[in-house]
Amino acid sequence: LVELDRAHLIHPVASYRGHEKAGVRVLRSARGATVTDGAGQQLLDGFAGLWCVNLGYGVESVVEAAAQQMRELSYATGYFSLGSEPAIRLAAELAERTPGDLDHVYFTLGGSDAVDSTVRFVRYYQRARGKPEKDQFISLEQGYHGSSTVGAGLTALPAFHAGFGLPYDWQHKIPSHYLYRNPVGADPQAVIAASVAQLHAKVAEIGGPERVAAFYAEPIQGSGGVLVPPDGWMKAMREACRALDILFVADEVITGFGRTGPLFACADEDIVPDLMTVAKGLTSGYVPMGAVFMSQHVYDTIADGAGAAAVGHGYTYSAHPVSAAVGLEVLRLYEAGILENGRKSGRRLMQGLAGLADHPLVGDVRGRGMLAAVELVVDKAARTPLPAASEPARRIFERAWANGLVIRAFGNGVIGFAPPLCATLSEIDAMVERTRRTLDQTLE
Ligand code: PMP
Repeated sequence: LVELDRAHLIHPVASYRGHEKAGVRVLRSARGATVTDGAGQQLLDGFAGLWCVNLGYGVESVVEAAAQQMRELSYATGYFSLGSEPAIRLAAELAERTPGDLDHVYFTLGGSDAVDSTVRFVRYYQRARGKPEKDQFISLEQGYHGSSTVGAGLTALPAFHAGFGLPYDWQHKIPSHYLYRNPVGADPQAVIAASVAQLHAKVAEIGGPERVAAFYAEPIQGSGGVLVPPDGWMKAMREACRALDILFVADEVITGFGRTGPLFACADEDIVPDLMTVAKGLTSGYVPMGAVFMSQHVYDTIADGAGAAAVGHGYTYSAHPVSAAVGLEVLRLYEAGILENGRKSGRRLMQGLAGLADHPLVGDVRGRGMLAAVELVVDKAARTPLPAASEPARRIFERAWANGLVIRAFGNGVIGFAPPLCATLSEIDAMVERTRRTLDQTLE
């Protein structure tokens, strides 16, 4: 398999030769929070695949729901006013649980095309209001909004831009709230005030509110290194957007479906965005699916406003009945105890990781619920980042693997944690213990 992989399979990575040099690690099977590799080693999955297997692996009733739907109706398009029962039911169940009036659901295949879809919806909305010149978009440094070309432009990771002229000239960034490395310090009110001021300044710089369409933010920045904003930051930015007459888009692709505690992180923030994206936990990685939630006023404006006849946007696999059937069963299981377990285990995870704060390599511990990170530094007082190219930074992933733990090593010395929400307290304790052992070995 390693040879066949080298010869033929292109991996989703930044470096083409990376997996060829390292040799692929083939995963054979998985149950709950445990994966088994090709050598038969069992590991605790501290990252839920790619922050997506919120439910845990191998749940029989999900398999059965997919199989049953494949037997009954394996495909239906949403075009031509066609539809399927699971897609309609899943949309209705989700609408009942989304914040406020985010009552309209558009299904995609994953997060990137959900973000792409919001860009189209935002532009349709502004056009329908007779304001097509509101066509500029703002997102955050350290933000991640996907790897499709439009989404990659909203993303702030340079590796996703090189060679494509990205970001597009209508895609702008303002600084992140990144509390550990914020030039205004870590005082929550100062950070919030700075972000609001930076949003206003950027809007003014690119032509004023009459040119700006939307602002994008993740409730917690995931791929940027699990950056948790101060309490009240999301609410302040949401209000600033309302005052500026620009749409607020919350990207809950990682934070959705119990990752931070509630079903959606926006509920904890007590905000209702104009649009919201989800994916990952929606189907818990069993099959691909993402979604855009659209508020009533955005929906009505697009449906009834100018240019309504010229709205074209859809995918062959939008609202796939098998994905929707999986989504329904996954949602049922979340509410039958998995979310509750995730909240308990999330408290344990945050406590356990906080216990690593005195480790000589650990500069910062942050997170909420089952979404956390440890930021490693070479000098605690000066907060000097562990160089991305350094031997310890490059080897943390394989060291953790050898210790029976899958983590995410971000390269800049940040280690990410996002265990399946089904993980037991003893599995969480083992993850923390294996992390400590990995850090100790890194020091040696
Ligand atoms: N938005 C956010 C916040 C994400 O974290 C991701 C993926 N990590 C995406 C969008 C893109 O989702 P996908 O990889 O499913 O296309």
